[in-house]
Amino acid sequence: MQYNSSPEFAENLDKSDPLASYRERFLIPRSENGETWVYLCGNSLGLQPKGALDNLKVELEDWAKLGVEGHFHGRNPWFHYHKFLTESAAALVGARNDEVVVMNQLTVNLHLLLVSFYRPKPGKYKILMEAGAFPSDMYAIQSQVEFHGYSYSDAVIELQPREGEFTLRDSDILEAIHQHGSELALVFFSGVQYYTGQCFDIPAITNAAHEVGALAGFDLAHAVGNILLLLHEWNVDFASWCSYKYLNSGPGNVAGVFIHEKHGLDPQTPRFAGWWGHKEDVRFKMLRGYIPEPGAAGWQLSNAPVFGMAVQRASLDIFSDAGMPALADKTSKLTPYLRFLLEDAKSKNPNIDFQIITPKNAQGCQLSLLTNENGKALFDFLTSQNIICDWREPNVIRMAPVPLYNSYKDCWKVGQAFSQFRT
Ligand SMILES: *Cc1c(COP(=O)(O)O)cnc(C)c1O
Repeated sequence: MQYNSSPEFAENLDKSDPLASYRERFLIPRSENGETWVYLCGNSLGLQPKGALDNLKVELEDWAKLGVEGHFHGRNPWFHYHKFLTESAAALVGARNDEVVVMNQLTVNLHLLLVSFYRPKPGKYKILMEAGAFPSDMYAIQSQVEFHGYSYSDAVIELQPREGEFTLRDSDILEAIHQHGSELALVFFSGVQYYTGQCFDIPAITNAAHEVGALAGFDLAHAVGNILLLLHEWNVDFASWCSYKYLNSGPGNVAGVFIHEKHGLDPQTPRFAGWWGHKEDVRFKMLRGYIPEPGAAGWQLSNAPVFGMAVQRASLDIFSDAGMPALADKTSKLTPYLRFLLEDAKSKNPNIDFQIITPKNAQGCQLSLLTNENGKALFDFLTSQNIICDWREPNVIRMAPVPLYNSYKDCWKVGQAFSQFRT
């Protein structure tokens, strides 16, 4: 598409946007003078769906009226509550229903998945991952390899971008997997890199891992609800994601996991067990001897946190209505439009300098701007204009126009602010 920086251009795109009305289903914060924020932080904490409060009220009322009876006689029986989320969560990641369960939180789930899928053997115990991964992932991986008696520096191979480059080349990743193949137990990557916005080639990485006899796992914190995913078809072994970024489920809310059927339907796959993963029809018989539910559900430990799930359900319903293909289609226009406006403002305003380090071919919402010494002042100026982005030390501004609730006009306003910035 040929973009231009006129306000009419943005207005016309909003008028012809088939998803424009979805913005009405969210609560968008306002400043004290009543002006609606341009909220570009959906990569960090998504906005509240209007349906969240009603869903939560239903469960609070049932608890008030029914007490323990709510487990089986509530309007949405709590005994089954996690299942109300399964189908929509599975659709988001391209999985079969029995490959997905909503449970716990992201880092907790990574540990549980590594228990099952990081099975080091003498001579084949290493994990290959991106350098500069999200800290929680680094800590999880480090503690896992140390738990198995290895050192981080020996057992973990971190891939760095080439000298002078900000992101990894796909071909370098695949080459490294083959180069270290005989020693690799696991290849573990994010789906979308949290700092740079780079989208990794999940199917190619998975294939390469399998070719060398390793498993492939992914942290989809920044990928789920953002880019199209086909985890089953891509033969990914396992993945986990959080729900409070693009999934708009609220701070710290319950996360999700994917476990491919080839592992999930095998009751011999090792795992840590708890009563909620026990075979459902005999769960309340309280017997000795763990029999897992088939599929990812057999990894559950504790009974489901219903209030958080009630909130998440409001958001997943919106995703089901809109559909990931339509959202990805809007992103394929909205994010390049913002990129165009930022570059256009930079070319016209000598007070501005930055480099967008997010690769042009990245399919997601996020743009990461590597700024110069004026970066923090620029960020503060944007905030003063009710444009909410996030600042990552040492000098990156991340912004993510989200197709569910950001408009083309939002992007245009950001371009205007960039044009007006003075040092
Ligand atoms: C946001 C994020 C996390 C956060 O982990 P929690 O357990 O939800 O606190 C972990 N990994 C990545 C890649 C993230 O982007």
